[in-house]
Amino acid sequence: ETAAPFATFENLESQVRSYCRKFPVVFHHARGAELYSEDGRRFIDFFAGAGTLNYGHNNPFIKRRLLDYLNSDGVVHGLDMYTVAKRQFLTAFNETVLQPRGLDFKVQFCGPTGTDAVEAALKLARKATGRAGVIAFSGAYHGMSRGSLAVTGSRRARRAGGVSGGDVTFVPYENGPRGSFDSIALIEHMIDDPSSGVEVPAAVIVEPMQMEGGVYPASADWLRRLRRLTEQHGILLIFDEIQAGCGRTGTFFCFEHSEVVPDVVTVSKSIGGYGLPLSMSLFRRDLDVWEPGEHTGTFRGNQLAFVAATAACELWGDPKFRTDLAVASRRLERFRTELTSLDSSLTVRGRGMALGIDLGQVGGPERAERLQRYAFDHGLIVELCGRHDEVVKVLPPIAIDIVRLNRGLELLRDGLLAA
Ligand code: PMP
Repeated sequence: ETAAPFATFENLESQVRSYCRKFPVVFHHARGAELYSEDGRRFIDFFAGAGTLNYGHNNPFIKRRLLDYLNSDGVVHGLDMYTVAKRQFLTAFNETVLQPRGLDFKVQFCGPTGTDAVEAALKLARKATGRAGVIAFSGAYHGMSRGSLAVTGSRRARRAGGVSGGDVTFVPYENGPRGSFDSIALIEHMIDDPSSGVEVPAAVIVEPMQMEGGVYPASADWLRRLRRLTEQHGILLIFDEIQAGCGRTGTFFCFEHSEVVPDVVTVSKSIGGYGLPLSMSLFRRDLDVWEPGEHTGTFRGNQLAFVAATAACELWGDPKFRTDLAVASRRLERFRTELTSLDSSLTVRGRGMALGIDLGQVGGPERAERLQRYAFDHGLIVELCGRHDEVVKVLPPIAIDIVRLNRGLELLRDGLLAA
């Protein structure tokens, strides 16, 4: 029984604002795909910091590099200066991520959150095109600052932030909760018809797989059509890879499944390797219209995050790491089939190491919450997503070992039967 949340958190519970009321224990340490509470309980982590801990908690390879760096008195805060850690990260990122994919992007360190990478991408698009409008998608999540919130498709969050329509036009995602919709034809219509009231926008911003919106992967064909359309009209295509990137879907970038190359990419969360803050906006070289000082920040380019991110790039470059990832992804794929054969009314979506168990039509948010509670009570952390928190998001570290992965999935299956 977990009726007395945070009995051990003294009287500080009422002082902090957070959603951790769903997990009423005090966490103490964490290793790999497991979190341990102060009172000695062990939890498998299928939340992974909302996609920030792709390499697991306290990954020993990355930890060693960090400890060595700290022991050498390496620069910890260097603002925007050139440092050895920054050079090493850029070299590793070029060699293991950009060059093998034929991508020639400029890198702008933002920071240090994903939100700021989105801000930078939107500002750049407006400056580079001289236009103001942006097209975004229902269900999108891009951040909580007023610029990123303006392209986030949540009425509630936008109202709370005092953000109104402004220059942003929302259209449905390819396959949202209300079924498929040809939003590309709609964008085309809005742009081509001078009476539509919509100006040609500076950019289209899209998650190649909507994560907070409910785990909706976009098809390759849809992303290709979006690319063609944006190219024809000189509109910049921004892919937000903050949650679906860094190996989550089996490839480094989620957009690789479509073979489309966007103009701007936002990256954060797991790029920091160890849960350390790092965020970047990557963009086509000819789009670099920034003047000095136009987008800065005290904490951009965290040196410890550079060290961790360099080690993470090395992990990514290790063929064994990617073989293990493929095995774990196949296991999740099989789990999808297992669930739908258990209950054919269930909808389970996803790609690679991300799954969404959609209970919208079969019990709704209440059942999702019951499942989350069942999981917690049995030692598994999962988060909810979707428009009404009706989707259980399965997001283990991508480096999870198969034993813990199986155990977590078993708990989810039992929980579905019980909830
Ligand atoms: N974009 C996407 C796709 C995200 O999932 C998030 C965070 N959930 C953000 C942007 C914002 O990142 P941050 O919370 O680090 O500001």
